[in-house]
Amino acid sequence: MNTKSTLTLEQLQLQNHYLELPEISYSRHQPQPLKNQHLIHFNPAAAECIGLDPAQAERDDFLAIMSGVKPLPGTDPIAFCYAGHQFGHFVPRLGDGRAILLSQVKNTDGSLFDLQLKGAGLTLYSRDGDGRAVLRSTIREYLCSAAMQALGIPTTQALFISGSDEEVYRETIETGAMLMRIAPSHIRFGSFEYYFYSQRYDELKMLADYVLTTHFAHLRENLNPYQALFANIVRTTASMIAQWQAMGFSHGVMNSDNMSIHGITLDYGPYGFMEQYNPGFVCNHSDYQGRYAFDKQPEVGLFNLSCLAQAMLPLFDENTETAVEIAKQALQQYQPQFTTFYAANLRAKLGLLDATEADQPLVQDLLNIMQKNQVDFTLCFRALSMEDTTQRNAAVRDLFIDREAADGWLTRYQQRLQQEDSIDVERSIYMKQENPKYILRNHMAEVAIRKAQDEQDYSEIDRLMRCLAKPYEEQPEFEAYAAQPPDWAQHLSVSCSS
Ligand code: AMP
Ligand code: MG
Repeated sequence: MNTKSTLTLEQLQLQNHYLELPEISYSRHQPQPLKNQHLIHFNPAAAECIGLDPAQAERDDFLAIMSGVKPLPGTDPIAFCYAGHQFGHFVPRLGDGRAILLSQVKNTDGSLFDLQLKGAGLTLYSRDGDGRAVLRSTIREYLCSAAMQALGIPTTQALFISGSDEEVYRETIETGAMLMRIAPSHIRFGSFEYYFYSQRYDELKMLADYVLTTHFAHLRENLNPYQALFANIVRTTASMIAQWQAMGFSHGVMNSDNMSIHGITLDYGPYGFMEQYNPGFVCNHSDYQGRYAFDKQPEVGLFNLSCLAQAMLPLFDENTETAVEIAKQALQQYQPQFTTFYAANLRAKLGLLDATEADQPLVQDLLNIMQKNQVDFTLCFRALSMEDTTQRNAAVRDLFIDREAADGWLTRYQQRLQQEDSIDVERSIYMKQENPKYILRNHMAEVAIRKAQDEQDYSEIDRLMRCLAKPYEEQPEFEAYAAQPPDWAQHLSVSCSS
């Protein structure tokens, strides 16, 4: 990362190393501008990734440059091909159907970031789609990636969103929009699956070598760098999903083409932050079977890693049996790693410093009574973070219908805290850094979307970006965002349509 965000667009070190990959991996496309496109919002926090001076967004030609109308030298836009398991079914060719990678930026420390324009028009991989993204889904991705980043959950980031007057057809007529996504790379589990299932093993190796050289150079020293690469993906994926579970985040479409090899949250579609605690929460209303329900996410992570392991078998060893053994051993690490990460996250949420055998049942019992009482997940943990015991107990109890159950649990919790001589003031500070006050609730995004769609008023996006940038801090001006969702929001539904 660049230490200071002072660069002009012309000073960005633009290059495209993906062109070193086999030609069947991508196709060249120029982004297609939208009618009357205009900048809606710019995200200075994301600009830090590439050292870009946020003042650059005020340039008259900013959008023309960044949307490829007036490209900078060094840009050589491409769309990528990948495959993937979608809802359990293998699809041999997916690819960037509406995203175009403008360029990579090389930072002063040598790190690379993709500049990817989502909604940029048709590509070779658009299939029946129109290559476009609508304003609604673009705002949702923009807000959520910023919220996740501020929560400390690994994620792609979004540099800006732009709107337009171009009509785009979904269930109704909507308007087209674009989002610039930033990530170390957009290489997915499905990128490896594409080569494996088309039996292009040389190309598979080229991709793995590219990934190792470009992003995981330290792993090259291992006896078997491919095995080390996979083990790394297992660990970062386990860690990311453990953070999702601890924050009540549900991805919604955990297909293997939406899983990043960097262990970062990728492709925000019908995601949702859980409000009332319900382990079976399904945020995607098109997911009729509940395949990607909240509590299924950890095991889906393993399924996706198994898909990746399968695709990497030819890299692990020439001998198939040996390769399978390597894959199995690496996959066996996932569950214990996930459990360790998740247990640590939950302990942190409860402000516990020592690990004891009794912690898991203590947490589980809290979750059980939260579920029975339909308690808001975020509000409950935030209330538990209060310093004063009496105030804390009262605030927690208030969230429950069954007060006795709450009291019973709070007594056990207090005993557990005394057991490790927990210091209230210290624990409270620590817990407030683990338990956010502000999350992106569905209705918050919905209000911002309606204002933007109906009135071309983007002020709510800006307010939410400011609020969600500091999710762990008290922000009196944004107090209303920390409340339970209003009644009208009970029946908001989010589908795959984007
Ligand atoms: P997603 O659900 O956004 O992860 O997309 C799944 C696949 O469908 C990817 O290959 C996308 O590029 C493609 N896709 C989604 N929407 C469109 C669209 N409007 N036009 C073209 N391709 C699309
Ligand atoms: Mg996707």
